[in-house]
Amino acid sequence: ALIAVEGIDGSGKSGVVRHLAAHLRSLGADVLATREPGGTPEGESLRALVLAGKDETWEPASELLLMTAARVQHVRRVIEPALARGQIVVTDRFVGSTLAYQGKGRGLSTGFILDLHRQAVGDLWPDLTLILDLDVATGLGRSRHRLSTDAIDEGRFEGLDLGFHQSIRSAFRDQALEAPARHALIDASGTPEEVQAAALAAVLGRLSA
Ligand code: C5P
Repeated sequence: ALIAVEGIDGSGKSGVVRHLAAHLRSLGADVLATREPGGTPEGESLRALVLAGKDETWEPASELLLMTAARVQHVRRVIEPALARGQIVVTDRFVGSTLAYQGKGRGLSTGFILDLHRQAVGDLWPDLTLILDLDVATGLGRSRHRLSTDAIDEGRFEGLDLGFHQSIRSAFRDQALEAPARHALIDASGTPEEVQAAALAAVLGRLSA
């Protein structure tokens, strides 16, 4: 199974991925935890390239192609082999982030993004996507705190645009509302423990259903 964890910056995705992987392993599952953009050496280089730029250094279509290049490497080299071995793959971000950031955020059409995904990545979609939903100001407050030690990502937050991040949040919420069978909308406003417990409950409920 392929599980994606999505949400705005500061929504707690990486903690949810770690907790899910640990808990599913304790139940005996073979789990691979990974992230995008990244997950392969090439993907990590592309991540640095995209994130080192100040906001909007990249043209929207260039950003989409770089993100998609990272995804193709990730899917071919890591995700598909893991699924073929029978592992459960939990990824911090996937195509939902592309639809939110490069689609809603940067104005590229959903049709273009999904077509590119089909052509370049193939017919691989998450079995379940968790959308960690959180008020934008709270999320940005949390991630600013974290990013103060992260020089690479910091550039991304200069000239911070609340409206941009609000549109990202609403894009994620819309994805959950449009395809409820493949998404779980998780309230990410609580403590990390509360959010992680809610995410785990959603996964256990859906995977066993
Ligand atoms: O959450 P993570 O640290 O992986 O995200 C890194 C940055 O990349 C975030 O600030 C997010 O806004 C951005 N991003 C993006 N488009 C994507 C995925 C991530 O702009 N498709």
